[in-house]
Amino acid sequence: MMVKIKVSDLAKNFGKQSKTLIELISKYIEGPAKKSSSVLTEDELNIIFDRITKEHELKSLEPYFASKREPTPEEKEAKKEAAAKPKTDSKSKKHQSQAAILQMAEQAAKRAEEKAKKKANQTPQARTKGEARRIDTRANTVDLEKYNQKYEDIAPASSYNDNQNKQKLSQKSKQYRKKKPHSRKKETEAQRLARIAEQRKKQQIKISVPEEITVGELASLLRMTATEVIKELMKLGMMVTVNEVIDYDTAEIVGTELGAKVEKEVVVSIEEQIIEEEDENDENAIPRCPVVCVMGHVDHGKTSILDAIRNTDVTSTEAGGITQAIGAYQVTTEGGSVITFLDTPGHAAFTAMRARGAMATDIAVLVVAADDGIMPQTIEAINHAKAAGVEIIVAINKMDKEGANPDRIMQQLTEHELVPEEWGGSVICVPVSARRKWALISFLKQLISLRKCANSKQILTERLRALLSRLSSIRAEVLSLPFSFRTVLSTQAT
Ligand code: GDP
Ligand code: MG
Repeated sequence: MMVKIKVSDLAKNFGKQSKTLIELISKYIEGPAKKSSSVLTEDELNIIFDRITKEHELKSLEPYFASKREPTPEEKEAKKEAAAKPKTDSKSKKHQSQAAILQMAEQAAKRAEEKAKKKANQTPQARTKGEARRIDTRANTVDLEKYNQKYEDIAPASSYNDNQNKQKLSQKSKQYRKKKPHSRKKETEAQRLARIAEQRKKQQIKISVPEEITVGELASLLRMTATEVIKELMKLGMMVTVNEVIDYDTAEIVGTELGAKVEKEVVVSIEEQIIEEEDENDENAIPRCPVVCVMGHVDHGKTSILDAIRNTDVTSTEAGGITQAIGAYQVTTEGGSVITFLDTPGHAAFTAMRARGAMATDIAVLVVAADDGIMPQTIEAINHAKAAGVEIIVAINKMDKEGANPDRIMQQLTEHELVPEEWGGSVICVPVSARRKWALISFLKQLISLRKCANSKQILTERLRALLSRLSSIRAEVLSLPFSFRTVLSTQAT
């Protein structure tokens, strides 16, 4: 936007008369003469500024700068004094303290100067040269112990009460590296087992084990895992599972080996109670059939003899051909007397069961294979029968076999205090063959003729009845065979 300036205004600013400016313009620009109230054009303004500037032109600026010179020192002093004089007069005290402060400040400045000089003489630090200093902020090797030492010096732990714990500086990273459980909660399974084993060592466990026990039950009595017990059994050469039954002797060895004190559990079994109660002079005595237990070494033909008597074939349906439980069968003779037969397992693992069979019987039939002779379990059976005080009748089986030698068997029997009738003793020995059904009738005749069998006044207690039915039901379960066979035997038949 163009600024409109009148001739009169501009003249006023320059301190000139309007007339002078109008004349100046008319000199350079043609046209009608300007009035003092006329507005100046750009050209006219340029001419005026140009001309006036030229009029006031200076050859050198020096005279201008020279006109502003410095005051002389005397003049300065005079000025200072003039300024300070009235203050000194009015506030002399304040001035004195200020002077003291000034003095101190001077001294301080001097000291600082000396220090700076000293520093300048020293070798400058690397930092001052602009070198980068690297710091490992992970700080995983900070020796905090020394701080703890300092802390200990300041406030010794001994001065604290027992229940007051002093906080110590510790490095988190170190704590993690230790990987130790901080509390019981974080205890691992292995540590738990180790702790239990430790406790067990300190306090010997006393366990009472019955005649027979499963591996699992023994483990729980020992407060151990079944695996530990199985391991121990393996060391003894027995490959068993958790549910397998082991006898007391084995359990005792394992338990002792595992640091426990093993005692035999005194269980008054049904059979024992029956035997104790058995009194021939009992007023409640009622006639009952004799109970015959068939015992002997495995595979000597116990089950086969019973099969032959019953005309059934149980051996072919048994698991592995081994009797797994005590089976009970009843046989009725022509005369009407009923004989109960108990078939016992012959395997070593069934010692307890065999003993039980002997306990509950009146007569024990000892089966010995004519070709094999007396074996460890035959001896065991003899001992059980003797302990139970039952009469023994020997069936020398497998007479059809080539190597059958009944004399050798009888010879061996005498070694176990069983002297055959033929040799002047009291033990009846009958050579038979279960397979060929040889001499079985004669064997049964001999059996019936025995004192216990002939004596009709036996005691049949409710308990014995229950036991017999229980034994039979076990057998029935194992073999899925119907219980209670009643084979009518004709003693006259051949
Ligand atoms: P257990 O274990 O004593 O009950 O014996 P078993 O009755 O199961 O018989 C064992 C094996 O001997 C079977 O294979 C029978 O066939 C066999 N056996 C049983 N009695 C005789 C026999 O009189 N003569 C022959 N040759 N073999 C027999
Ligand atoms: Mg058998």
